[in-house]
Amino acid sequence: LYHDAALAEGTLVEAAPGQAHHLGTVLRRGPGDTVRLFNPRDGEWSATIDSIRKDRARFAVGGQVRPAAAEPDCRLLVAALKRDAMDWVAEKATELGATLIQPVLTQRSVADRANAARLAAIARGAAEQCERLGAPAVAEALPLHRVLAAWDATPLVVAMERTVAEPPRAAALRPGAPIALLVGPEGGFTAAELDDLRRRPFVVPAALGPRILRAETAAVAGLAALQALVGD
Ligand code: SAM
Repeated sequence: LYHDAALAEGTLVEAAPGQAHHLGTVLRRGPGDTVRLFNPRDGEWSATIDSIRKDRARFAVGGQVRPAAAEPDCRLLVAALKRDAMDWVAEKATELGATLIQPVLTQRSVADRANAARLAAIARGAAEQCERLGAPAVAEALPLHRVLAAWDATPLVVAMERTVAEPPRAAALRPGAPIALLVGPEGGFTAAELDDLRRRPFVVPAALGPRILRAETAAVAGLAALQALVGD
């Protein structure tokens, strides 16, 4: 179970919202049953259910099972997609080790917002399922121009269909260094957006093969490719 509290042997921690219901009602667990608690700061700990009621539970933290480990900083910026596609991307991006999910509003975005709280909850669930200690942070949606204006020097790999690889720019990608992937909306980036992106010194245009992928497929394929290149 993902838990933000400081985890240390011998401490008692209150269950996070929703966990008591899930454990007691859905999984039928009771006092004395073992669970595992984790977060990226403290790692993973064995714990037992000390007390449990409908909407409240308390855990007694036991020994550490896995220490915290630094993850490669691999961020996903993705145009705000339809709800189902966005939910799927949040789950898969978590499995693929994304450290941040930043929904982006582009000229052709079909959605004008993304529900960051729902996506963060999906990401936490996915982290539990894939045994990842940390879940990606999920930011509120921002217009593309604002994201670019505030960008630091981190290489921003932009998935561009029908593009050719540009090796000098690709040389910016180094194992272990922070990296980010940007994927456009269902309708693609506009010509003006592509011009703007190509002019930015930190942008690395990247092709994901000759076929036109759905935006959500491009997000997953791009993250997998980046992790193979610079991640774990
Ligand atoms: N409507 C666009 C078109 O037909 O030209 C296609 C947009 S595609 C469905 C959505 C996004 O996925 C694109 O903006 C791009 O970021 C990414 N994408 C899809 N296929 C790709 C490919 N083969 N290489 C790189 N990026 C791709």
